[in-house]
Amino acid sequence: MQKCMSLLSMLLMVLLLFTVAACGQDAGKNPGTSDNNANDEDGIKIGLSVSDLSLERWQHDRDFFVAKAEELGASVLVQSANGDEAEQLSQIENMISQGIDALVIIAINSDALTTVVDQAKAEGIPVLAYDRLINGSDVDAYVSFDNVRVGEMQAEYLLEKVPAGKYFLMGGSPTDNNAKMFREGQMNIIQPKVDSGDIEIVGDQWVKGWDATEALKIMENALTATNNQIDAVVASNDSTAGGAIQALQAQGLAGKVVISGQDADLAAVQRIAEGTQSMTVYKPIKAIAEKSAEVAVALAKGESVTADSTIHNGKVDVPFIKLDPIKVDKENLVDTVIKDGFHSYDDVYKNVPESERPPRP
Ligand code: BGC
Repeated sequence: MQKCMSLLSMLLMVLLLFTVAACGQDAGKNPGTSDNNANDEDGIKIGLSVSDLSLERWQHDRDFFVAKAEELGASVLVQSANGDEAEQLSQIENMISQGIDALVIIAINSDALTTVVDQAKAEGIPVLAYDRLINGSDVDAYVSFDNVRVGEMQAEYLLEKVPAGKYFLMGGSPTDNNAKMFREGQMNIIQPKVDSGDIEIVGDQWVKGWDATEALKIMENALTATNNQIDAVVASNDSTAGGAIQALQAQGLAGKVVISGQDADLAAVQRIAEGTQSMTVYKPIKAIAEKSAEVAVALAKGESVTADSTIHNGKVDVPFIKLDPIKVDKENLVDTVIKDGFHSYDDVYKNVPESERPPRP
């Protein structure tokens, strides 16, 4: 009887070991999901607070970030606030209470995070501002693209196509510091042409939450107000461009009015391939996500960060690791976004007849 019992308990032990091993493999294989391993006693734990995972762009960021951090031996607790400022604050407070070693924030409101950042710093947790600067607090590092240059690229492109005419400015979320940097870059290029009288600004609006539906409404109203007399739309990113293009489409103007974008979202590069969106600015997300993961792990280990430049956030000069954006239009779609593996050739040209597609890379 005793022999039988010990055989049974051995069997149970083996079964338990297999189950534990299988669970461990699953967690490692699934970089896109929240990882509750952040409760592990050993190893580096990073908290990643994402502004809004419902926008395509941030899903790519999350996946690349988590994969790189895990490769570096860290575990990541991911939370998305889905565009809700108050939710982001409470998620961050919760992460701090879970004992993380570094906090990475993609801010919804660049001006509303002082208290939680101060709280993290008081607990000895270093803070990295991911893509969007956090103002008014002691942030340890900022990793982003050259956002002023993004705005300049958008405006330069439109100006090349429409050197004189009526321009509509569609800014991003008014609470996102990047939106202001994009506008600064756009105006660096456009203002001299406004001053010379070549360009007339027929409207200027900011899109709450970078929301496509909001952008659609804004564009509809602008078209009504101007009697469809708009030659160019300075859209600051692809989600807002998408909304604006829907409104242009309804008036038979899609493909006729030049319009910018940013992010190289799949829907946007499809529109570029089809001819309804003029350009986008591609920011290799793998580069920012992997760099940020490296910096977060270094900060968690107490190492200092080296950057080529700094940016003042109203309180301190934050080390700014600045990456280069790339202009993308119909001409270089294949050589950029597709060759990089960001989107596949088949996905991008899905709606374009075979005979009109460029050669495969
Ligand atoms: C980012 C853009 C993005 C936008 C909306 C900005 O802060 O820099 O790439 O399109 O947020 O999510």
